[in-house]
Amino acid sequence: MKDILYIVVPCYNEEEVLPETSRRLKEKLDSLMAAGTISEKSRILFVNDGSKDKTWPLIEGLHAQDPVFSGVDLSRNRGHQNALLAGLMTARDKCDMAISMDADLQDDVDAVDAMVDKYYAGCDIVYGVRSSRKKDTFFKRFTAEGFYRVMNFLGAETVFNHADYRLMSKRALEGLAEFKEVNLFLRGIVPMIGYTAGTVEYERGERFAGESKYPLKKMLSFAMEGITSLSTKPIRFITGLGFLIFLISIIMLITFVVKWALGMTVAGWASVICSVWAIGGLILLSLGVIGEYIGKIYLETKARPRFLIREVLDDE
Ligand code: UDP
Ligand code: MG
Repeated sequence: MKDILYIVVPCYNEEEVLPETSRRLKEKLDSLMAAGTISEKSRILFVNDGSKDKTWPLIEGLHAQDPVFSGVDLSRNRGHQNALLAGLMTARDKCDMAISMDADLQDDVDAVDAMVDKYYAGCDIVYGVRSSRKKDTFFKRFTAEGFYRVMNFLGAETVFNHADYRLMSKRALEGLAEFKEVNLFLRGIVPMIGYTAGTVEYERGERFAGESKYPLKKMLSFAMEGITSLSTKPIRFITGLGFLIFLISIIMLITFVVKWALGMTVAGWASVICSVWAIGGLILLSLGVIGEYIGKIYLETKARPRFLIREVLDDE
């Protein structure tokens, strides 16, 4: 049993962490190869996501020194999810299993052994799950937790505290290739693939060096994309909301008619203004939500390529 493992690492301006990451990953792969757990053809595949620093020359250098390092150079920056997909799709033809991992060593490299064990035990997908969020700021923990809650409430199946550290078998990768959506939210799509899944817990560390490429604004838009690409429930809520408001207005109408019949005066322009504003606001909000989905349809129908590859460095 010696299957080929590819570790896929998307990199955007990661020159500061690459030397250490490559060293640690090679160490891991060497030990697995020496133990006879994985094939000698296993590789560490760095995907350069249009970095502006020396990331790609570094990857070229690593590849020239040691064939265990492979590289994919994208035509430009396409974002984490697309870069990851480019790597996984490149690895698909060459590997039996692929592990996706961040470049900044936040994902514990030592969890690889357990993932590979689960793969041999019959799992097609193994999710890396954070055992705790102790190292996160309160704000990040709070927003992350809220996000998973909302996702589950909306009926999108996501694995709690799992980001993009996971193992996928060739079969699962082939399944992933069938999902053609331009707007990619991998951690929502992967559970849809099915097959046998397992989880491995790991302690998520701090970024080894450099800065997070996910500032708050990007994080929020990522969350929004995730929700609208996985669930249409918000549209249904609007229908419910409209129905509720209609009911309330009927009750109001009946009350006023009764009051009028009893000879009481029905007071106030203030209530009229309030309801006009309230309804106006709700209508705009609803249009906005529907607009999000229409925008999504617009982008999906164009079916633009999710990534373009400039160069692949990989020795068979
Ligand atoms: N990344 C990428 N393209 C981008 C942004 C990020 O390939 O446009 C990579 C980045 O190099 C890293 C991973 O995605 O390997 C996760 O990014 P980061 O660690 O900055 O995110 P955080 O851990 O702060 O959420
Ligand atoms: Mg990180």
